[in-house]
Amino acid sequence: MDDGALQFFPAWRIRFDDTRGPGKGGIRFHPDVSAEEVAALSFWMTIKCAVVNLPFGGAKGGICVDPKALSRMELERLSRGYIRAFHDLIGPDLDIPAPDVNTNDTIMGWMADEFSRIERRQVPAAITGKPLGLGGSRGRTAATGRGALQVLDLWAERRGKTPEELRVAVQGFGNAGYHFARLAHERGYRIVALSDSKGAIHGNDGLDPDPIWRHKHETRELKGMVYCDASVCEEAEVEQLTNDDLLAMDVDVLVLAALEDAVTERNAASVNASMILEIANGPVSGAADELLSDRGVEVLPDVLLNAGGVIVSHLEWVQNRIGDIWSEEEVNQRLAGRLAREAELCFNYAEENSVTLRTAAYTQAIGRIADAMAHQGTREYFNSASA
Ligand code: NAD
Repeated sequence: MDDGALQFFPAWRIRFDDTRGPGKGGIRFHPDVSAEEVAALSFWMTIKCAVVNLPFGGAKGGICVDPKALSRMELERLSRGYIRAFHDLIGPDLDIPAPDVNTNDTIMGWMADEFSRIERRQVPAAITGKPLGLGGSRGRTAATGRGALQVLDLWAERRGKTPEELRVAVQGFGNAGYHFARLAHERGYRIVALSDSKGAIHGNDGLDPDPIWRHKHETRELKGMVYCDASVCEEAEVEQLTNDDLLAMDVDVLVLAALEDAVTERNAASVNASMILEIANGPVSGAADELLSDRGVEVLPDVLLNAGGVIVSHLEWVQNRIGDIWSEEEVNQRLAGRLAREAELCFNYAEENSVTLRTAAYTQAIGRIADAMAHQGTREYFNSASA
């Protein structure tokens, strides 16, 4: 710590499955991080990478810490300490971390630098989500929101709806939620509500996410901090809501872009939206998923909807490995091509088999993982060889 004291923070890196390739998954800094949460997130990463057919398995990491209570130097020491603790488990062919909640390109830059120092050589493909100057990819920051919007567009097209007809409320105005809201607003969707951990705002005629984001971040820039401690609630001109009010709004699309378990058995009945977009990982609990499905509320599942981030992480890894730097257009084009292909397969499977999109996505992913396992060989081979 800055005062010279030594403090310990529990931390994890969990590789759930690497049948289809090296582990891939973000590192989360949050006071609620636990082994169980990291394990669940590493499972979701395994499914997500397989849904969009990336040559990766699934992993995740986390530190149980309130990062906003640390100074910038303390945060840098903690980030470097994480890499010192786990560096032998990380690498371009082993397990490739990336940002998640409360971690960003600045933190990935510190981590990538620490990894290279330990290895005594440049290994840019060991970590993705890095700053551009350290081998990060153009288009990475907006990729999750951009991918989510693309899947929403495909869904709307299939249902014969135009963006202008759809009213959207967004829970979680952070990195993923902001870029989604900004791009959706540009496309013509009406963003009628936004929230962060401190509260929500509502504007029936539509909110423009860009000035709200800039306003929220002005204080951060002034203080030179890594985190933003301002809130959307500081927008004086618009109506304020509670976070629970936002979840119960009568809108066409409810976007969940904060954390797990935003909608559970407790509040599923109060959801009035016709469909839910899971940008966060696991924002609808298993029990709530069934209740919503019984009521005909469609859920576009996290493992497909938020895969844009890991798709561009994969493109960053590829650029680092082949030693090239692609333009933002090239990155966005590759992202759009992969997502369109894989989302279409999920939509078609769901329609042809009358199952939910979540079931379709899991069927697609588990089928691919099972196929890889089958091709690894059989126990019988070894048994008969030793007989
Ligand atoms: P972030 O920390 O930038 O943003 C999270 C936002 O949620 C913050 O604005 C926070 O104030 C808000 N929030 C927290 N609790 C809330 C609550 N109860 N009500 C309303 N708002 C609340 O994180 P992020 O990177 O945007 O990630 C958000 C979610 O998306 C996470 O579940 C993450 O795992 C998932 N995700 C992110 C990416 C990515 O590329 N950023 C990729 C895939 C999945």
